Parts: sequence; structure tokens; C-alpha cells
Amino acid sequence: MSAPTEKKTIFLDIDNTLYSTNSGVSRHMGQKIHDYFLTLGLGEEEASELHHKYYTQYGLALRGLILHHNIDPVDFDKKCDGALPLEDLISPNPGLRKLLQDIDRTKATVWALTNAYRPHAERVLRILNIDDQIDGGLIFCDYQKPNFACKPDAQYYHDALAKAQVTDLSKCYFVDDSRINVDAARALGWGHVAHFCEAGLVHVEGGKVKEIGSRQVNGQDGVDVIADLEELRQIWPEVFIS
Ligand SMILES: [Mg+2]
Repeated sequence: MSAPTEKKTIFLDIDNTLYSTNSGVSRHMGQKIHDYFLTLGLGEEEASELHHKYYTQYGLALRGLILHHNIDPVDFDKKCDGALPLEDLISPNPGLRKLLQDIDRTKATVWALTNAYRPHAERVLRILNIDDQIDGGLIFCDYQKPNFACKPDAQYYHDALAKAQVTDLSKCYFVDDSRINVDAARALGWGHVAHFCEAGLVHVEGGKVKEIGSRQVNGQDGVDVIADLEELRQIWPEVFIS
């Protein structure tokens, strides 16, 4: 086994962080999951209620479906994330690619981290044309494992640190569009956490349409709030090529 890393480690959330909520991916995702609930024989309203309840209670609707409806998570993944028309919704973003290329890899390793399963994560990174920029690897929810952890479970973050061999939390960087996920990392002592917040835009969370809240919380509890990933250059200058 190799020695724990001396370098800084950057964890990038994927969905609605590496592409904008404006893409409509969250809306399509919400619809696919809703349709999946309908296949269980639920009515429209009951499906919406349960979808939101499981999302809120378990961090992922899927975990409620496994616990209470004994569904096959791999089948769910195929019919939900795997059925998204991602190629029509997102495309390579040269600015994002340049941002990642400007991270100094002698100082930092970049990981992508998601609550989705591996195929979805790999597909998004490939479409965005940044898969080669993720030199650390992928942290994903292993749908094949019973009781897999997801953000914001502490276990998920512990597993991510173990996989990336991070022992010094002051060298740990994280950006995510979910405030809950960011706060969880911060509460566990992760050194540099940023909330990517596209305030005013509408996204779908747990099947419900919500407006993304304001940026008034900037700096609170050690969390940086950014509206554009380019702002990472300002808040984390030490990881970029100078
Ligand atoms: Mg996200």
C-alpha cells in the first residue's frame, strides 16, 4: 500500500456542479425517478409524496426504494440515470476544462465525487470532456453494495478520504451544489469547502421544483459560496498554477 498523500486533494461534486442547473438535467432526473415510482403501482400524488419523503429522509430516493420496496438498484440506475438524454442536455465546456487544466497537479490531485452510480458519473465526465482531468479517480455510490452510504452520511465522507488516502483534513478541498452536503463536510473538519450556488435558478430536488436560495450565507461557518466555478481561482489560489 502506498503512503498517504502529501498533496492537496480536491473533491468535485459532479451533477449540477460541473454543469449548470440550467441544463435541465435535474428536471429530467426527477421525472425519470417519478416514472419509476409509478411502475410500483403508486398513483401520481402518492409517488410524488414518497419520492420527496425518501429523498429527504435518506439523501437519495433510491435508498427508500431499496429499503421499503425491495427494488433492484442496478435496474433503477438503468431506467433513471441511464435513460437520461444527457447528450442533448450538456456539452463540453472549454472554460471548465481550462479551469481544471490550470490546477497544479504537482500540488493537488482532483477527484470527482457523486451520489450517483459509476456509469452515470463516467458518462457525464466524458460528455463534458473532462474525464482526463480527474487524475485521482471517482467516488460514487456503489449500488451493488447493500446499505451503501451516500452524501450527507458521515460514512460517505470517511470512505472518500480513505479512498483518496487523505489523512490531513487541512489539505482537503470540496465543492458541491448542495448546501447540506457542504455543511456535512465542514462539520467533519474538511479544510476548504465551497458551496456552488446558482441563486435564483430553479432545480428539481427529491422530485419537487425549488428555487435555489440566495447567497447571503457566504463565509458562514467556514463555507465559501460561489456562483461560478471560476471563483475557485480566488478562494483556492494555492492549488492553481501561478
Ligand atoms: Mg450535485
